[in-house]
Amino acid sequence: MTEPPGWIPLNDLQRAYGADSAALDAAIASVVSSGWYTMGEQVAGFEAELASSVGTAHCIGVASGSDALELSLRAVGCRPGDDVVTAGNAGGYSTLAAIRVGARPRFADVAEETLTITAESVEAALTATTTTVIVTHLYGRLATIEPLVELCERRGLALVEDCAQAAGAERGGRRAGSFGHAAAFSFYPTKNLGAMGDGGAVTTNRDDVADAVRSLRQYGWGDRYHVERSGGFNSRLDEIQAAILRTRLPGLASANDRRRQLASRYAAAVPEPVGRLLQSGGPDFTAHLGVLVCSDRDQVRERFAAAGVATAVHYPVPDHHQPILANSFRDVALPMTEYAADHVLTVPLFPELRDEEIERIIGVLEACKFC
Ligand SMILES: *Cc1c(COP(=O)(O)O)cnc(C)c1O
Repeated sequence: MTEPPGWIPLNDLQRAYGADSAALDAAIASVVSSGWYTMGEQVAGFEAELASSVGTAHCIGVASGSDALELSLRAVGCRPGDDVVTAGNAGGYSTLAAIRVGARPRFADVAEETLTITAESVEAALTATTTTVIVTHLYGRLATIEPLVELCERRGLALVEDCAQAAGAERGGRRAGSFGHAAAFSFYPTKNLGAMGDGGAVTTNRDDVADAVRSLRQYGWGDRYHVERSGGFNSRLDEIQAAILRTRLPGLASANDRRRQLASRYAAAVPEPVGRLLQSGGPDFTAHLGVLVCSDRDQVRERFAAAGVATAVHYPVPDHHQPILANSFRDVALPMTEYAADHVLTVPLFPELRDEEIERIIGVLEACKFC
């Protein structure tokens, strides 16, 4: 990719590697020379370390965040024909996982302040065949999950957390990934805890859910070559990715701190008529993305482009308007979900941003008052 000099990218993974290259090279080399490439001591070590960090009894490494969501649904007992209530503004991952298990997605609208689903909106979306709720901690913000836990308990529903953007988020001493019956993590390279390829994990406090995921990630095996559970496939995390993640996990908290600091500086710079930057001001937000809710997104976007700063939209198409689903959801209106798709704008926010780049981004935000 060739970019003009001075261009500020949305992310720069080469910088993240450069900041820690000796340790990463050593971790990778040790796996390469060990001759053991899957389901070995690196995966077991990472699983123990992530479980301890999240505060759950179990962590099971898998091949991606999408697989982690699907395996979580299968493990909590979600069945073909069930309804799964989820958000429609969160990239479609939870919806696709529901479809892959043969369930039907149903959408709860999101709250204006957080852009995440709430106990109230979920309750309004429940059907007689709903068995499972998936809550996405969008942009790294831990959803208002305590009332959701209570609702799911009261109604006998399984609760799955999508923590792909929220690794390290915590409230009241409890971390994202420890509230639900199961939680899915992604280690796609741009996530706050990123591998150098694909990877994912499921965390849970339930022994039965952990047993199910351990079996399903490897063909549904009980004993080797004995297929005892249906719905299994190959979804292993590999040793090289696990070694990379073990190298990076100890730095996650300080990287999240740095992200949060940038988010609050951006938030303070956004002139009120232009919009606001989504953040929480506390440790329940990992600042995975710097997301503005703009009254006029096109104008703000043009400002950034003219200043040589990359922007993106996470996410432009609500799930119920996606081509594969639009026919089934023609009569469904989700006002806040639809508003978000038309008004959110992501600006560069990652720990390795340089001071002069941060100043430039803040300068563009402040200048937006003259839009
Ligand atoms: C990235 C992401 C996923 C999917 O993870 P993959 O590892 O890319 O499959 C799921 N949910 C959310 C919220 C994500 O950001």
